[in-house]
Amino acid sequence: MYRQSVLISGAGIAGPTLAYWLCRCGFQPTVVERAPQLRTGGYVIDFWGLGYDIAEKMGLLPELRKIGYDIRELRIVDSRGHKIGGFDVSVFRALTDGRFLSLRRGDLAEALYKAVANQCEFVFDDTITSLAQDRDGVQVRFQSGREHRYDFVVGAGGQHSVVRALAFGDEGMYEKYLGYMVAAFEVSGYRPRDENVYVGHAIPGCQVSRFSMRDDRTVFLFVYAADRPPAISGHDGKAQRAVLRSRFGDVGWECPQILAALDKSDELYFDAVSQIRMDRWSNGRTVLLGDAAFCPSLLAGQGSALAMTGAYVLAGELNRYDASQGGAFERYEGLLRSFMHQKQEAARRFARSFVPKTASGLFLRNQMTKLFGIPGLAKLAMGPSLLDKLRLPTYEWHSSST
Ligand SMILES: Cc1cc2nc3c(=O)[nH]c(=O)nc-3n(C[C@H](O)[C@H](O)[C@H](O)COP(=O)(O)OP(=O)(O)OC[C@H]3O[C@@H](n4cnc5c(N)ncnc54)[C@H](O)[C@@H]3O)c2cc1C
Repeated sequence: MYRQSVLISGAGIAGPTLAYWLCRCGFQPTVVERAPQLRTGGYVIDFWGLGYDIAEKMGLLPELRKIGYDIRELRIVDSRGHKIGGFDVSVFRALTDGRFLSLRRGDLAEALYKAVANQCEFVFDDTITSLAQDRDGVQVRFQSGREHRYDFVVGAGGQHSVVRALAFGDEGMYEKYLGYMVAAFEVSGYRPRDENVYVGHAIPGCQVSRFSMRDDRTVFLFVYAADRPPAISGHDGKAQRAVLRSRFGDVGWECPQILAALDKSDELYFDAVSQIRMDRWSNGRTVLLGDAAFCPSLLAGQGSALAMTGAYVLAGELNRYDASQGGAFERYEGLLRSFMHQKQEAARRFARSFVPKTASGLFLRNQMTKLFGIPGLAKLAMGPSLLDKLRLPTYEWHSSST
């Protein structure tokens, strides 16, 4: 039997999830990843809602629970390390009926990769350089010099998708910058440690947080306000470290030692907090997924879960409809567009209070976080944006219906 071939660009969160579900329904996916190996860096994410449901359908929950963290508290401290705000994060567990996990983005990426790695081909250290589509397929050329023809191409390469650039045009047409930069890195042996507490410190327009993980690792997340992203290359780690040093050198608290640790880290994630907003997610036999299509930004707190939701629906619709006849990509977009739009809008509204740019705004935010400990108030404040208002369609896969 002929198996339709699908080239997926990007082995992040969306790419391997899509490959998994496409394998379940008889497609032949290939995943091409620009990095030489799976990228396991990044921050600790909160994981709930539809992404959690899909991980359950993939049988990954026992593993994710094992590698996840039971974060108890989000604590905001002043420059001397004294608590001045924050809340007990059990409110999230209560709001989601316990279906809530905190885990390293990299651990989620690895679990998704392992779930499909032995069922389809993964090509690392390569990238698409050109796409030429006609009625019957897409001719793809790679940086390695290889050329191949596929039935469909999916851009799952994240916020700076090459497939989007090649098939839809320049990133500038679709990127909405939200006024912040974000950076994350991990090191071993950092002190102090606070087990299962997410500790953060902020001054107007700058916030730095740390979380102590297993194996004596600590992950740090920087967020700072900037009118525009710095004019440096996205691959220039040295320049990115210099920007962080200049922005956080005077922020106080543990910043001097955090910046010293930054110099010892091997992988730094550094990017603009932006959304991707597009009028359409597909063009002929090429379709976008995850951050490449509908990046909600860090402020949605759900980028990975939404990328998985997109992957599940795209695979289901490709299986149900013949994309070459035009049905599947339209259905995928029709089912998800307004849901993703709502998530983006909620994140955009949150941008103002995320890292306030004035001392009074910051004071107010810190006071507000204390109120989340009051029963019922967290539900009132966060419930509407926390809970996903989309029902996942039921699809017939090969082995079972889920
Ligand atoms: C290493 C890493 C760390 C991150 N850390 C943070 C963080 O700290 N804070 C935050 O807000 N968000 C972070 N993100 C983004 C967040 O994980 C995404 O919002 C979310 O996972 C959406 O999933 P995605 O699969 O669409 O994109 P991503 O998870 O970004 O995955 C995209 C994948 O495509 C690959 N890729 C990129 N270009 C190409 C190309 N030309 N050809 C082939 N492959 C390509 C990337 O290397 C990556 O593996 C991080 C992403 C990565 C890759």
